[in-house]
Amino acid sequence: QTPIHVVGGGLAGSEAAWQIAEAGIPVILHEMRPVRGTEAHKTDSLAELVCSNSFRSDDAQTNAVGVLHAEMRLAGSLILRSADANQVPAGGALAVDREGFAVAVSRALEAHPLIEIRREEVAGLPPEEWGPTIVATGPLTAPDLAAGIREATGADALAFFDAIAPIVHFDTIDLGKAWFQSRYDKVGPGGTGKDYINCPLDKETYERFVAALVSGDTVGFREWEGTPYFDGCLPIEVMAERGAETLRHGPMKPMGLTNAHQPEIKPYAVVQLRQDNALGTLYNMVGFQTKLKYGAQAEIFRMIPGLENAEFARLGGLHRNTYLDSPRLLDPHLRLKSLPRLRFAGQITGCEGYVESAAVGLLAGRFAAAEARGQEAAPPPATTAMGALLAHITGGHLSHEEDGGKRSFQPMNVNFGLFPPITVPKPEGGGRFRGKEKTIAKKKALSARALADCASWLGAADQARMAAAAE
Ligand code: FAD
Repeated sequence: QTPIHVVGGGLAGSEAAWQIAEAGIPVILHEMRPVRGTEAHKTDSLAELVCSNSFRSDDAQTNAVGVLHAEMRLAGSLILRSADANQVPAGGALAVDREGFAVAVSRALEAHPLIEIRREEVAGLPPEEWGPTIVATGPLTAPDLAAGIREATGADALAFFDAIAPIVHFDTIDLGKAWFQSRYDKVGPGGTGKDYINCPLDKETYERFVAALVSGDTVGFREWEGTPYFDGCLPIEVMAERGAETLRHGPMKPMGLTNAHQPEIKPYAVVQLRQDNALGTLYNMVGFQTKLKYGAQAEIFRMIPGLENAEFARLGGLHRNTYLDSPRLLDPHLRLKSLPRLRFAGQITGCEGYVESAAVGLLAGRFAAAEARGQEAAPPPATTAMGALLAHITGGHLSHEEDGGKRSFQPMNVNFGLFPPITVPKPEGGGRFRGKEKTIAKKKALSARALADCASWLGAADQARMAAAAE
């Protein structure tokens, strides 16, 4: 049988290769280390963890990444199996002995009879004669391949830095203070004139806010990252440093907006939030990309009227990160729409994190294996953690048209804001859950639905595979 090529033996590529081989299809895995290194990797092991040794929370009842762990275990993930076998104590988190973990992944792949590992750089777009290929070269994709991808997708389609503005869970925004309105009530394509949520600041609050931004602790750039500031993407604290009025004339300008709660008082400054996913459960703070430390961000952004109790689906950041404008470029099976022989996986698709990268690798591997058997695998339902992540990457995000042509797709960890909403069940003894109890009950319901739906999806995939084998 013709092998499937996988480029990149990181978290995603290793998992993809494993899933394909376990489905009985041969794989050739190309990894450039140790022939060529990256700025962050230090070893030649496959699935090297470049920074923390944690896979984050292992709580599959109330934490979205814990649910993702559980789903990946159900799907026979090599990454999760190797993590479980090399666990170190870390409270409720799944943390690993990094060397033991990487060695376990490397050995399992090296020992698999259907996997051939080639230590070589793929210096350009994978050649056509390879046929179906998965590209999983990560945030530090080598330059020649990145150039090849850029040529195939267009210059705007591959970013080399992320510029992440914080994202807030909609249901934690106080609409008693904030209001819906587009600037000058402008109705764009698909818009209503009420597309933004606006948070008003008076003069005193604005001045305290700017002072807090200027004095907040920031994270430095790594030596090899450079300082990638470019127009339209300055960190909010850098803009604040340029003068007390800069933000009021930039992303916080109050023009064209009337406070629906107090129309007679003109806001001195306004923070705008724009819908971030098609479900409407997440909103991003427009123009608020930042290098502030996470703790400082939460504290400072909660000074904004309407965001006092905001819960953040993700905080802001600015890093070196090679990733595609996936909602525009990839189909629901992670294939490049314009060149379907290429499928992408891992952080290059715009997910964020070790576990998420491996999960997208798992899906890409399963999709590629089904395709090799002449089948089209059903993507996991959006109610599962894997499906929610896939929807974020390939479809759940607002399209460019809905987004007014702006490129606001940014990498994201898995989180419950990506899951379709659910009705919170009632307590067993009757009545209603309130406050924190209600949040926990909702997370439990989302988790239970995800795991049940994942089990059915895997059951159907197994049946399809067995039917193909019996033919
Ligand atoms: P990688 O694991 O980077 O794998 C890509 C592989 O492709 C590498 O082995 C690379 O050598 C190879 N490759 C690249 N180009 C080529 C080519 N042309 N030919 C052949 N091989 C090639 N996430 C977390 O959850 N926790 C963290 O603490 C964390 N810290 C991070 C720190 C840094 C500095 C960076 C850059 C990212 C960090 N991430 C972290 C984010 C992300 O989870 C990891 O980068 C993760 O490893 C991504 O998985 P991946 O499989 O997509 O890419």
